Amino acid sequence: MSEITLLITENQIDTLIRSTKEDFPNESCSLLLGSIVDDEYHVKVLKKMENKAQSEYSFHMDSDELMKVYKWASDNGLDVVGVYHSHLKGSNPSDTDLTFMKINPVIWLIYDVSKSTYRAFLLVQDCLKEIKIKISKD
Ligand SMILES: [Zn+2]
Repeated sequence: MSEITLLITENQIDTLIRSTKEDFPNESCSLLLGSIVDDEYHVKVLKKMENKAQSEYSFHMDSDELMKVYKWASDNGLDVVGVYHSHLKGSNPSDTDLTFMKINPVIWLIYDVSKSTYRAFLLVQDCLKEIKIKISKD
């Protein structure tokens, strides 16, 4: 059995970190669009989302903006494979994150601004699982 893996490129990671710096100190959020092949979640397109909460401790995506991105993704043969957001400190999902992970069963990529590190998680049958991240050059 293969392991669930998030495949993302260096450029994509750089873009996410750049967006996070722009939004600092508020949490930054983006959707990761791509495809799922077997247990591999390939990120192909990033969609920067506005954090409507404008908060350092939470994020909230606008439902109209979300619908537009979901529609754009499906028109382009892509799925929403992940949700990215940043934390000022720590890369564990918060209680609020866990609640939304139940509704959005995709990979959650969390960037810890204080340490410049990121981790990915998935809720599998209500169990939090850390997901392997594979970064490629292009
Ligand atoms: Zn969070």
